[in-house]
Amino acid sequence: RTVYVNGQYLPETEATVSIFDRGFLMADGVYEVTSVLGGKLIDFGGHQARLERSLAELDMKKPAAFDDLLDIHRELVRVNEIEDGLIYLQVTRGSDGDRDFAFPDPETTEPTLVLFTQSKPGLANSPVAKTGLRIVSIEDIRWGRRDIKTVQLLYPSMGKMMAKKADCDDAWMVEDGFVTEGTSNNAYIVKGNKIITRALSSDILHGITRAAVLRFAREAQMEVEERNFTIDEAKSADEAFVTSASAFVMPVVEIDGASVGDGTPGPRAARLREIYLEESLKAGI
Ligand code: PMP
Repeated sequence: RTVYVNGQYLPETEATVSIFDRGFLMADGVYEVTSVLGGKLIDFGGHQARLERSLAELDMKKPAAFDDLLDIHRELVRVNEIEDGLIYLQVTRGSDGDRDFAFPDPETTEPTLVLFTQSKPGLANSPVAKTGLRIVSIEDIRWGRRDIKTVQLLYPSMGKMMAKKADCDDAWMVEDGFVTEGTSNNAYIVKGNKIITRALSSDILHGITRAAVLRFAREAQMEVEERNFTIDEAKSADEAFVTSASAFVMPVVEIDGASVGDGTPGPRAARLREIYLEESLKAGI
């Protein structure tokens, strides 16, 4: 695999970053994951807009202009012959060659920019979309700025392990009795013709897929209600699903051992997945 590090395309075994990089020492960095379908980048503009916001919230410099980042994405897709897969982009604050809690001088410290591809043949045809996910609920004990897409992913990783231990596919996190989001996706329930998902705030990541799916839902004459919901309400909903750039729309069929609806993927989640994939492919660049 060819990867990108600070202006250079290199074989992955030759790419290096300083051990003093604040991404490594302090999780001082942000990232984006953009999916590739049929060689096209899905919602590149949305991911770039969120990257800019994450960087601004942390007083970090943007390491390259939109057009340059687009060129790098396209070049990695080309050299690694990615038909379907993901592109991971990470910006960390870099380092001034030592460890210190205070940020280094931004005038003299360059951010570290890393991109790599992950080939996922048949990404859009995942068999899980036909069977659905089994979810376990866990307490949300993350920090209070989940709207910033930081590389601080230890708790979500632990959440995935808790899900595995409970013989589930993923975890939904709960704070003050209400579902915030999945470990790496936004969470939804469906009641009748209504799609219900938590409103945007610093409690959750502002999913790029979420924005697109809610737009498609409204266009398809579904009602959208952005509000809190509990695990109990989710268990008794007609359907449930999650969204993310890598899973698109993925149905949820079980929560804490209780079947959602009839325990099979619901029609609205299936329809939204279909629309999302169709429209994203058309709009891909
Ligand atoms: N919430 C969390 C915590 C996530 O990690 C992700 C995936 N990065 C999402 C939601 C979904 O966001 P997106 O649709 O932009 O991938």
